[in-house]
Amino acid sequence: MTEKHEFQAEVSRLLEIVAHSLYSERQVFLRELISNASDACDKLRFLAQQDGTLAGDDTDFAVILTADEAGKTLTIADNGIGMDRDDLVANLGTIARSGTAAFVKALDAGQRKDMPLIGQFGVGFYSAFMVADKVAVESRKAGSEAGWRWESDGKGSYTIDAIDLPKRGTSIKLHLKDDAAEFLDADKLGEIVRRYSDHIAIPIKLADKTLNRASALWTRSKNEVTPEQHTEFYRHLSHGFDEPWGTLHWRAEGKIEYTALLYVPGIRPFDLFAPERKHGVKLYVRRVFVNEAPEGLVPRYLRFLRGVVDSEDLPLNVSREMLQNNPVVRLIRQGITARVLGELEKRAKDDADSYGTFWDSFGEAMKEGIFEDAENGGRVLSLARFRTTTAPDKWVGLAEYVSRMKPGQEAIYYIAGDDAKTVANSPHLEGFAKRGIEVLLLSDPVDEFWIAQTADFEGKKFASVTRGSADLDKIAEAEKPEDAKKDDATPDIAPLVALFRLALGDSVKDVRASQRLAESAVCLVADDSDMDIHLERMLRQHKQLRAAAKRILELNPAHALIQALARSLREQGDNTAVQARVSEVAKLLFDQARIVEGDKLDDPSAFAKRLASTLAAGFAAA
Ligand code: ADP
Ligand code: MG
Repeated sequence: MTEKHEFQAEVSRLLEIVAHSLYSERQVFLRELISNASDACDKLRFLAQQDGTLAGDDTDFAVILTADEAGKTLTIADNGIGMDRDDLVANLGTIARSGTAAFVKALDAGQRKDMPLIGQFGVGFYSAFMVADKVAVESRKAGSEAGWRWESDGKGSYTIDAIDLPKRGTSIKLHLKDDAAEFLDADKLGEIVRRYSDHIAIPIKLADKTLNRASALWTRSKNEVTPEQHTEFYRHLSHGFDEPWGTLHWRAEGKIEYTALLYVPGIRPFDLFAPERKHGVKLYVRRVFVNEAPEGLVPRYLRFLRGVVDSEDLPLNVSREMLQNNPVVRLIRQGITARVLGELEKRAKDDADSYGTFWDSFGEAMKEGIFEDAENGGRVLSLARFRTTTAPDKWVGLAEYVSRMKPGQEAIYYIAGDDAKTVANSPHLEGFAKRGIEVLLLSDPVDEFWIAQTADFEGKKFASVTRGSADLDKIAEAEKPEDAKKDDATPDIAPLVALFRLALGDSVKDVRASQRLAESAVCLVADDSDMDIHLERMLRQHKQLRAAAKRILELNPAHALIQALARSLREQGDNTAVQARVSEVAKLLFDQARIVEGDKLDDPSAFAKRLASTLAAGFAAA
């Protein structure tokens, strides 16, 4: 009985785009189908490690191409894992990969003109419809007796039938479009396979002739592999369409022996911070695939890596459990980490701009290494780059920061917050800007964690500009015009501070004059002994913390409002009406400081009423 299914809406849209995409890019359909066939063989090989009956005697994995001139069909067949009915529906009827789904959405939003050449984008199986007006997939899953036939003309729907199939695996028959007859030509097919699929480790055959080298790319000697071959292999591994940013290929000999071929991606994968995200380094043992992403092979902060490690020292039937805490795996991980960090250090030194693009994509993950990697945390810290108040559009390393520190400056100053913009506009930075002191602008969630666990960089401690008393007097102001000196004579605001303390009572820890402000009237800071403001808010958001510490309200003695308040107290301090009005302003300023901090007010309507009545009183007096 034939079942009829509609494609998921995104698939139909994708198929429309694919069918009308660039003529000259069409040949990549073959790369996609061969890549899937090779993946299917790898998957079966992997499962057969646990259950030998799955692969049976049929372990000579291969991709077989068959061109039928008379029938105008090209068939791509494999003896891999195969698909059952549910697999066919899930894999060939929807877009499972979110990267592709996002791509189709972007096209929808009218970005068609900037879209990358479709061929550079891995549209996967659906690329078959670039060259075929009908596609028939026949498949039998390993371990099952049932065969299935999936068929579609790529116009909105497909059918599924139960059929008899003698052998496990998948064959994909393309009924070529009239203008795609070139893909029946043996020379043409050989050329395309060598160009895009030479790295495939199993044979790709046409009429008994093997078209590719069928040797794993990583086993070839380093200078034998071209950049193009690396790109194709990287895309095969990542299902992506970008160029690798970095390629590392080496053979380790000595205590343990392995070959590694690793790529640093050119773009950040969408799921880099998904909790279930694994690294992308596959484990082979003497050329045989054994594990997709073994735990412990790559440190978590390097999870963006793609590639292959091929070990000589592990048993072939190594299980998942055996891999955990395995000394060989640990040694390989140390080797990988050292190589990758070394390469990053070199690239950072040789080409800061290019390193900046790497940091843009992966810096947020890298920073986890500062505290997670006990052995290499210091190296990772040196590799870290930051936006700063002096260079908001550049990536600044800590060594560069330290080289610019002012005479008398002892700490590396930073400010942390939820987003880069709010952080850059924070009033706490004013006094630092006035003295030309550079401040690191931190807005990644991970920042609070590494900073909390990092004592210093080359002996320089990290200091938050929103915490503790900023002792900026030791650091000379950048330029202090002579006549500004007398303005600076701080008026006595002690009585004002005392009244503020009284008015604010328990809602603050203290009130004091500030050195860190220049333009703003007030700001809130954390006491030396308390948790920093942003860290505390973050922990509260994640329900890790309930109580909030009280803050210190700092007043800017040079601000016109603070001076006016201080003056009115000096002149009419005994007048209870004046005291009451200044107390109201104290409460207003406190709430205002909390708003600037990004905090929620306990009682916003009280704030609004107070603001209105204070303004009204001011106008009535004027
Ligand atoms: P991707 O390869 O990136 O997952 P594709 O569109 O190329 O995306 O393929 C979709 C899915 O269809 C694959 O993930 C796989 O599960 C399944 N598939 C495709 N071709 C085969 C095949 N020859 N054998 C087994 N499964 C396949
Ligand atoms: Mg694919």
